[in-house]
Amino acid sequence: MALKEADLIITDIDFVLTMDENLTEFTNADIVIKDGKIIDIGQNKKNEYFGKTIIGKGKIAIPGLINTHTHAAMTLLRGYGSDNPLKVWLEEYIWPAEGQFVSYEFVKDGTEIAVYEMLRTGTTTFVDMYFYENAVADVIKEVGIRGVLSTGILDFPTPGAKTPDEGIAKTIDFIKEYKNHPYVIPAIGPHAPYTCSPETLKKAYKVAEDYDVVYHIHVAETEFEVNTIKEKYGKTPVHHLNDIGVLSERTLAAHMVYPTEDEIDILANKGVKIAHCPESNLKLASGVAPVPTMIEKGVNVAIGTDGTASNDDLDVIGEISTAAKLHKGVNKNPTVVNAKEALLMATRWGAKAILMEDQLGSIEVGKLADIVLIDIKDPHINPIYDPYTQIVYSSNGLDVDTVIVNGEVKVLNKEVLPFDKEYLLEKANYWKEKIKSIKK
Ligand SMILES: [Zn+2]
Repeated sequence: MALKEADLIITDIDFVLTMDENLTEFTNADIVIKDGKIIDIGQNKKNEYFGKTIIGKGKIAIPGLINTHTHAAMTLLRGYGSDNPLKVWLEEYIWPAEGQFVSYEFVKDGTEIAVYEMLRTGTTTFVDMYFYENAVADVIKEVGIRGVLSTGILDFPTPGAKTPDEGIAKTIDFIKEYKNHPYVIPAIGPHAPYTCSPETLKKAYKVAEDYDVVYHIHVAETEFEVNTIKEKYGKTPVHHLNDIGVLSERTLAAHMVYPTEDEIDILANKGVKIAHCPESNLKLASGVAPVPTMIEKGVNVAIGTDGTASNDDLDVIGEISTAAKLHKGVNKNPTVVNAKEALLMATRWGAKAILMEDQLGSIEVGKLADIVLIDIKDPHINPIYDPYTQIVYSSNGLDVDTVIVNGEVKVLNKEVLPFDKEYLLEKANYWKEKIKSIKK
């Protein structure tokens, strides 16, 4: 039998957790990749193809992880002003630092540090909202990781736009520049219902519809927000957004800590996607989102780390581990958010949240080859009774050994190939010295 040509063959993988509709699993299997896509999966497939190989022995394969809410460049503010009340943290630390330093260089350097960490811990796609997203796009193009990028649009002046209309116009230009790019996926990012007027929210939604992009927004994150919206509009945030017509399957709502029971029904009926950010909600003392109820009612809940200033890392495996345990404790029910659901939040449900379920989120023939191999040759992950359980409860992002994006190897033997680590450490230190010098 003539051998067929492949670009990359991952051989003898102990467990392949495909995360497809049936949660199909393979053992001692091979994954075959060609032209950036998965073309074959199964035992002894390596005997049918020729091409470059990677050893999968001693590893679990999972789909590339999807972080559905972050502010990548905020790595430069990691740990800055921690443990203060929210108002003090924002007004005395974060906003002054951002006001003085956010620029193309700040965002590019901060994003490089973030992308290093994301690849190192198995993230192959991230959803970003910040300023100077052209800098984020430039990093993505150099490195080869996927990013769904939205510039924060607010009713007050931002580093990139004096008015919300200017922010929207710039987003349209960005969408036109990057529509159909393999790595840079444009989106629109009205910041939140308490920072954007109904007019701004509606104008941004029209752009999302016209250009078929994700509508990325923070919703119902804190009690402060709920009270502000109630005072202003006489209703809670989800009702408010529903009444102005900006909720649909393209709406990606970050946080959603405080939806009411009937609002959860609205989210389910409208197909709104949730980016659940448990560690940020805990660290900022925002509260705990009703995730088990949302999942039970059919809401698509994905996972997000939020920015590193409020987390303080970008480790998606750590985040789903927190989610899985947090909701058990709060609900006094050890069966909610089980290990499979936790991993779905970071894979297929994440792909659904960014409207890319047909291309990403599971290891299936025909899908894009975004694959992560987790090293299981370490006592802290053994013995392995159940691979889902071991990933969610025993491992962390640093157990990721190999990361493949679009069929290209980006991390091998725990080394992030596109980056010089020393250079990133120098950059982090350079910005620390500047930010530390802010007079309070
Ligand atoms: Zn956020």
